[in-house]
Amino acid sequence: MIRLKNEKQIDGIRESCKLLSAMYRELIPQVKPGLQTIEIDKWVFDWIKKAGGKPAFLGYGKKDNPFPGSICISINNEVIHGIPSKRKIAAGDLVSLDCGINLGGFISDQAVTLEMGKVSPEAHKLNEVTRECLYAGIEAAKAGDRLLQIARAIQGRALREHYGVVEEFCGHGVGFDVHEDPHVPNVPHGSNPKMMNGMVLALEPMINLGSGNVDVLDDDWTVVTADNSLSCHWEHTIAIFRDHTEILTDPVTIA
Ligand code: MG
Ligand code: MG
Repeated sequence: MIRLKNEKQIDGIRESCKLLSAMYRELIPQVKPGLQTIEIDKWVFDWIKKAGGKPAFLGYGKKDNPFPGSICISINNEVIHGIPSKRKIAAGDLVSLDCGINLGGFISDQAVTLEMGKVSPEAHKLNEVTRECLYAGIEAAKAGDRLLQIARAIQGRALREHYGVVEEFCGHGVGFDVHEDPHVPNVPHGSNPKMMNGMVLALEPMINLGSGNVDVLDDDWTVVTADNSLSCHWEHTIAIFRDHTEILTDPVTIA
């Protein structure tokens, strides 16, 4: 069931989103080759706690295998849900960060892919186009139109470059919970409700240099490309209003 939000509730979600984007603004300049991903996770946990929020992803998921970090860190062929570890970031890596904050019961969700120094031209282009896919999807998110317009816009941009669009994981409603209805796919399939005033959605294209097929590692979290190709991931939380659509999280530019 899609839970629509009233203006006051969207105010709360917006505050959560602003806090999350403020966290990214401080974090991103510190993410450098040589850093262990667990060090990033610790910094994020401390920052969110100090700011009065809760890391929304920490402990999320199945009871016997909850997500152990405050932020997902997925490198190169890892698509999403990378678990913070002792792995060190290397020069030339693509590092996807995905984080959510629970602020007073209101949940935000945002992801960015960072380039560690000079990456290959193919990696840089993949990253730029993935971000363009996100904004193409946001352009298509309008009250009165159907939800799968978003998928058509995202997929359309990616296919122009012959990139693979991940189908198995997708965007979602957000705000009261980390994942709510509806599914917001990146390829047009499944239910196609009308977008309505008060919908809050997380749009999150995951785009691969190779095919869109993915596997999940034995840790039951980390999603990787099936063909080991590079992957990028960009996400914003947005709110649909009768006459306009607002991006609740702040933009991050590619360095
Ligand atoms: Mg996310
Ligand atoms: Mg999300």
